[in-house]
Amino acid sequence: MQELTHYINGAHVKGTSGRFADVYNPATGEVQAKVPLANAAEMDIAVQAAAAAQPAWAAVNPQRRARVMMKFVGLLNDNMDKLAEALSREHGKTLPDAAGDVQRGLEVVEYCIGAPELLKGDFTDSAGPGIDMYSMRQALGVCAGITPFNFPAMIPMWMFAPAIACGNAFILKPSERDPSVPLMLAELMEEAGLPKGILQVVNGDKESVDAILDHPVIQSVGFVGSTPIAEYIYGRGCSNGKRVQCFGGAKNHMIIMPDADLDQAADALIGAGYGAAGERCMAISVALPVGEETADRLIAKLVPRIEALKVGPYTSGKDVDYGPVVTAAAKANILKLVESGVEQGATLVVDGRNFSLQGYEDGFFVGPHLFDHVTPDMDIYKKEIFGPVLSTIRAGSYEEALGLAMSHEYGNGTAIYTRDGDTARDFANRVNVGMIGINVPIPVPLAYHTFGGWKKSAFGDLNQHGPDAFKFYTRTKTITSRWPSGIKDGGEFNFKPME
Ligand code: NAD
Repeated sequence: MQELTHYINGAHVKGTSGRFADVYNPATGEVQAKVPLANAAEMDIAVQAAAAAQPAWAAVNPQRRARVMMKFVGLLNDNMDKLAEALSREHGKTLPDAAGDVQRGLEVVEYCIGAPELLKGDFTDSAGPGIDMYSMRQALGVCAGITPFNFPAMIPMWMFAPAIACGNAFILKPSERDPSVPLMLAELMEEAGLPKGILQVVNGDKESVDAILDHPVIQSVGFVGSTPIAEYIYGRGCSNGKRVQCFGGAKNHMIIMPDADLDQAADALIGAGYGAAGERCMAISVALPVGEETADRLIAKLVPRIEALKVGPYTSGKDVDYGPVVTAAAKANILKLVESGVEQGATLVVDGRNFSLQGYEDGFFVGPHLFDHVTPDMDIYKKEIFGPVLSTIRAGSYEEALGLAMSHEYGNGTAIYTRDGDTARDFANRVNVGMIGINVPIPVPLAYHTFGGWKKSAFGDLNQHGPDAFKFYTRTKTITSRWPSGIKDGGEFNFKPME
């Protein structure tokens, strides 16, 4: 059995806590490795190494730091197949989807090559007689990130690339479900020229997370995962005086107006609802057709498409639409929620409950499900299922559909399918959700914009990546500088406006 390690101060280090978690191959259900779960003492070793290395890294000029990012992009491309394979083996997603996971992280690294431009400060010449005023952005010091299982390459890169480009040291606590790719990323960053101690991977669970939250040297914490944990980390991190941003769960609605191209909308729902087995925070999990006729036509188009979905292991290559879910527990939770939907009166139009794949009976595969006639009081609507389950609520009007999207506790992403610009515009302006798709089902912003939801999908002030990341990972310092000329006056005792 392979024993994974931590990556501390430039070396693979075995766990010493004596605690491990099993890492599965979700396609076969087999345990393929065990990952060490760090305790506070192990976390402290990484923090001390980070604190020792960080001042020298912050002193490297931003263009040279950016060159490390440039080289890292090249290495990511060179190692794309290897990274994707390792990612699929632990996560279960298809190989093209795994390569997309790496690619979407790589794009944020590319954006970080612009760090010298993004870190340039502001300068006011002659703010007063002999006085110049300037602001600069300085690195925070030691930063930490806690990431979820569903994007084990992309989300760590969304955090560590801007943090490190800004001159910080970064400690990554990845998901214990699929820790191999984060370890590979740390190795590649050092191959790209990053000094030891600037990017470290400490594997673990709640114990190591608490060690991050309580460590006085760690200045900032980024978290992506489920909402209850996001709320916990935000509360404890903030009360310990850290800068914290936490991104949580989702329940993304897609409104389908009567004038929409229904083939396009149905295709979009298939990709956005069932891609990656629904394990995406930007997956569409609720379809809101407006009007009975739209709903009937949409369901008629969805059913054959769903029945044609190919579910299988990543080793079947491009001939698979989606793979298994991440663990047996995730599968059990999804099926339990499906049962609750049936018990609470929703119509299960496509029933994936008895899905089984020959030769992979022990894998964590879940067949696709489609519910119709779902109502807002049902658990399948209120809770995040994080599986291949699409719920349809038939809305009587646009206002009713909009109201549903607005009153749901989550506000990560949402979409509308329509041919009417006025409706689309009204929707984008009024809906209280962070990322909006207009005839686009999964509106994930590109690296140079920012990513973040509203309501219970995000806690904190700034979004991920884009310009916000450069604000999150730096502090502003403003200097008022006076070089008097001519006769020097005596002391000044009054707080005066600038002349
Ligand atoms: P999770 O909340 O179970 O775990 C996320 C991280 O928190 C992991 O590193 C885990 O080790 C740690 N953790 C788990 N339990 C903890 C505890 N009790 N105390 C402290 N730390 C703990 O989430 P997951 O199952 O890995 O990921 C799926 C969730 O992430 C979904 O809810 C999904 O919507 C969300 N997600 C959100 C976004 C976003 O940007 N909003 C992106 C991706 C995933």
